[in-house]
Amino acid sequence: MAQTEIRITNEGKEFRNEVMATHGADKLMQCYQCGTCSSDCPVAKRVPEFRPRNIARLAIYGQKDRLLSGDLVWLCAGCYTCYERCPQKVHVSEIVSALRQLALREGKIHPTIKSIVTSIPKHGYISEIGEFENEMRGEDGLPPAPTPATEEIKTIMKKTGILSRVGGE
Ligand code: SF4
Ligand code: SF4
Repeated sequence: MAQTEIRITNEGKEFRNEVMATHGADKLMQCYQCGTCSSDCPVAKRVPEFRPRNIARLAIYGQKDRLLSGDLVWLCAGCYTCYERCPQKVHVSEIVSALRQLALREGKIHPTIKSIVTSIPKHGYISEIGEFENEMRGEDGLPPAPTPATEEIKTIMKKTGILSRVGGE
């Protein structure tokens, strides 16, 4: 079979270095593509295009555009199965986290994550809890959800810069 040479551009190498400089993602180059992470990943069982092994491979080859555009890195459920299973301790979960940080730095965020993050300073929760939700809680014998200190939450989120990062107020 004819072999295709894969060239990694300098930009690709820089991107790979950026990924590896992020906490927990430094073992990227130890991946030998065994596929153990993909075989046990719960998201990979349901989403054909999501394979942790491929994410590691694309990061090794510095494929920034393929990794940061689209939904790919936002599909990970953060279950840490790949973290536990990898024989090389590559920790794809941490590589995904690094990729998300790099995407955020470029103002790229999945709309669902943006909606969750911007809901927190407004409602104190990842979604609004209103009368209906409290009625449901009551039916299960639970008290109404506590009223969160949204102003304090907003202040903290502004000071940490997370709101401006996701394009919130
Ligand atoms: S990240 Fe680990 S488990 Fe996944 S393909 Fe690479 S070496 Fe195998
Ligand atoms: S942490 Fe993400 S990539 Fe790893 S097994 Fe769980 S869903 Fe898959």
